Amino acid sequence: MTAKLIDGKALAAKIRADMKVKVAQLEAEHGYRPGLAVVLVGENPASQVYVRNKIKACEEAGIRSIEKRLPESTSEEDLLNLVRSLNEDPSVDGILVLPKHISDLKVIDTISPDKDVDGFHVNSAGRLLVGRPGFRPCTPAGIAEMLDSIGFDCSGKRAVVVGRSNIVGKPMALMLLERNATVTIAHSRTKDLPAVCREADLLVVAVGRAKLVTADYVKEGAVVIDVGMDRDENGKLCGDVNTESVLEKASYVPPVPGGVGPMTIAMLLTNTVSAALGKFGKSLN
Ligand code: NAP
Repeated sequence: MTAKLIDGKALAAKIRADMKVKVAQLEAEHGYRPGLAVVLVGENPASQVYVRNKIKACEEAGIRSIEKRLPESTSEEDLLNLVRSLNEDPSVDGILVLPKHISDLKVIDTISPDKDVDGFHVNSAGRLLVGRPGFRPCTPAGIAEMLDSIGFDCSGKRAVVVGRSNIVGKPMALMLLERNATVTIAHSRTKDLPAVCREADLLVVAVGRAKLVTADYVKEGAVVIDVGMDRDENGKLCGDVNTESVLEKASYVPPVPGGVGPMTIAMLLTNTVSAALGKFGKSLN
């Protein structure tokens, strides 16, 4: 079997175009445009690129972006006060704080659950756990959209999620459970990881280890979703999956770059538009 590529870039462009239509409708009906506040602390280059891409995607969809840049030396109290003022600002529908190591628990806890478009607040996590509507973390939500796009029905399938972070692995596992998959979560202490992964009809890999997963981890015909954004030995961007190696065994894989990454941004816009619609008693569907 030769795997088909899941074109995350094209799918994300379609979702962003759909959001643009929703934003235009909201503006026509209520004279209101959704706003996303991005708080960037310090000069971290990776965060700068990430923020630039998000702001560009927002603007193209008609979402206002409200950029707040703070120096590295900003005190925790000043940062929390800024978040509190954004919570109170009725023109802000979503709040992001970058880089992620700055968004420690205190920052995440301070963001209003109504504006938690990253889906990291304990309120959003609890809602996912008990199956109530709420903001879903963008990366696993983007992967769910990718699975829909290839017509992959999770029901009754064996899914293995490698990685148990709060932003990818755990919410991914819960979302697959919600879709009636039989889910295993693997991590750094898992024994015989290749054998565990070979049981998967759907293998989602979010570990942050360049090209860890090779053909030996993959069951014939499995869908393999590579979340990793790593650098190979030559400094080139790559994923957690050795794509070349798994191509002959998997049925579908997304490329890296151009797979899960663009979907994460598209879902951030989706969550922001959803937050804005909620203000007017409306929802995306
Ligand atoms: P993380 O918080 O560092 O978590 C990594 C997880 O992988 C942990 O649960 C860890 O296990 C597990 N792990 C590490 N080494 C392992 C190994 N050798 N075998 C099995 N499990 C192992 O990472 P993250 O934030 O979830 O991100 C994971 C990757 O996805 C990174 O490359 C990141 O850049 C990428 N990412 C991409 C996007 C996107 O939009 N494309 C979004 C988010 C993240 P323990 O819990 O036991 O330590």
